[in-house]
Amino acid sequence: MKKVVIIGGVAGGATAAARLRRLDEKAEIIMFEKEEYISIANCGLPYYIGGTITDKNELTVQTPASFNARFNIDVRNFSEVLSINAKDKNVLVYNKKEDRKYTESYDSLIISTGAKPVIPSLDGIDNKKVFTLRNIPDTYKIKNYITENNLKSACIIGGGYIGIEMAENLKNLGLDVSIVEMSDQIIAPIDYDMASTVHSYIEDNGINLMLNTKLLSIKDEDIGVTINLSENREIKADIVILSIGIRPDTSLAKNASIALNDRGYIITDNKMQTSIKDIYAVGDAIEVTEFVTKTKATIALAVPANKEGRVVSDVIDSENYTKDGYNGTQGSSILKIFNMTVASTGVNEKTAKRLNLNYDKVFTYSPSHATYYPGATNMTIKTIFEKQTGRILGAQIVGGEGVDKRCDVLATAIRFNGTANDLVNLELCYAPPFSSAKDPVNIVGYVIQNLLENKVKNFHWHDVAELINRKDITLLDVRTKYEFSRGHLDNFINIPLDDIRARIDELPKSKPIYLTCHIGHRGYLASRILTQNGYEVFNLNGGYRLYKTIIKD
Ligand code: FAD
Repeated sequence: MKKVVIIGGVAGGATAAARLRRLDEKAEIIMFEKEEYISIANCGLPYYIGGTITDKNELTVQTPASFNARFNIDVRNFSEVLSINAKDKNVLVYNKKEDRKYTESYDSLIISTGAKPVIPSLDGIDNKKVFTLRNIPDTYKIKNYITENNLKSACIIGGGYIGIEMAENLKNLGLDVSIVEMSDQIIAPIDYDMASTVHSYIEDNGINLMLNTKLLSIKDEDIGVTINLSENREIKADIVILSIGIRPDTSLAKNASIALNDRGYIITDNKMQTSIKDIYAVGDAIEVTEFVTKTKATIALAVPANKEGRVVSDVIDSENYTKDGYNGTQGSSILKIFNMTVASTGVNEKTAKRLNLNYDKVFTYSPSHATYYPGATNMTIKTIFEKQTGRILGAQIVGGEGVDKRCDVLATAIRFNGTANDLVNLELCYAPPFSSAKDPVNIVGYVIQNLLENKVKNFHWHDVAELINRKDITLLDVRTKYEFSRGHLDNFINIPLDDIRARIDELPKSKPIYLTCHIGHRGYLASRILTQNGYEVFNLNGGYRLYKTIIKD
């Protein structure tokens, strides 16, 4: 009978335990968890604090007793594994409840110890009004502190997923909320141009967003704290949530001489095997292969942890494992901010640039469903693709309804190495309440196809500054007179799309035309007319609308 020991009883660990049992009714499976709770809904924690989830019990998908009853797993909570003895194949365990240490042997060991919040060593960081959020005890601490002290204001340090979710939830509780973010944008998986829309939206929802701002120290006050920031700024808040990132919880692995990367993440192969035989690792604690680029990456998300948990069980169960193993993480992720949805998958432009990929990008702006059916909202999609092949490398979407569905379709296309042609060929479900006959994902395919087939040439929002003072080109805005009068880019002349054929002689053939419209579509139509009349034309991708969301006067 196989004996499998698992360290960590949440996403990766509990998934591995349950799958192993389904595969092998006889195996002895012991799962150690140092905290009280196992199989917790980490992703739901901010929503319990904010009151959307009201029942505490909803935060635990399984209890030790229910997990044991269903899967016959020997769950030992309050049990911290202190060390791994790889030579003798056992672990040293501290039972916190009984204040007792003992060793437990294993045939196979799975490490799923996750990650810990990064806590910088700054003055006042250990203040009792400063909290981090990782597990259920953290959640209760924050929730109790808020309700018992009648708080009025909160400062979130860090504009990542947890920070933004906490900002929304605390705002919904009626607190004044500030977000302090060191970089020039929040939500690192998306690019600055896509984050710009989110910045305005967050501010419109009453959150004080402080970009390019560094936390320096925290000073205790009778009520709340004073938070000292870069450039001699300071703000006051009753509570601080520190969410500046995570680091892998891998000291056990390190002390057992398991190979780690230079950032302390456990290195595994695609069968989740570490550098030591019979020791496996999954979840936030490990380095992964990024699916699109095949480079090494660290991506802390629940979906990969669950998938790796399944792979490791299959590997341990099978004498002769022949499947492909874990084939990489593409970082598909999604975030709700009030009524906005932000989703991304695959490679963003920052990464494409850093890795010097031969990529291009398109911005498309599409309604969530047929506009004649009430309630449609628009979404901006940024798609990164490989220039030679049209292969989709990554996508980011900001909008409301239907963002999740489109990002999932694009994530699927990426998984199957799909190209722009594949997006064009996708036949997706359509009726007016759900989509349009040309789904936003089809539109992405059409736009990339047009580019690759030279039906249109693009320029981008970041090219505008260099173009507006050039005398050797024509700058043309093809929106209506009314739209143009409400705001336009410097030095652009206006000939509305529907007048172009009649007024074409006003445009000198000797000069290339750089044109814009509102979202890029009319620009494309104008560009087709002009190109077929012998002009060289470039269309502002994403149009005036996108430009104005990024470049604010
Ligand atoms: P965890 O799930 O963190 O489990 C590790 C467990 O190991 C912990 O319970 C820990 O106590 C235990 N442990 C550590 N050391 C020992 C030891 N020595 N002995 C015994 N036990 C030990 N991901 C998404 O994809 N979508 C989301 O919306 C999302 N929202 C999130 C919101 C929050 C607030 C948080 C904190 C995370 C969120 N995540 C989300 C990330 C997701 O929860 C993690 O990627 C996932 O839980 C990682 O799984 P894991 O098994 O590696 O680690």
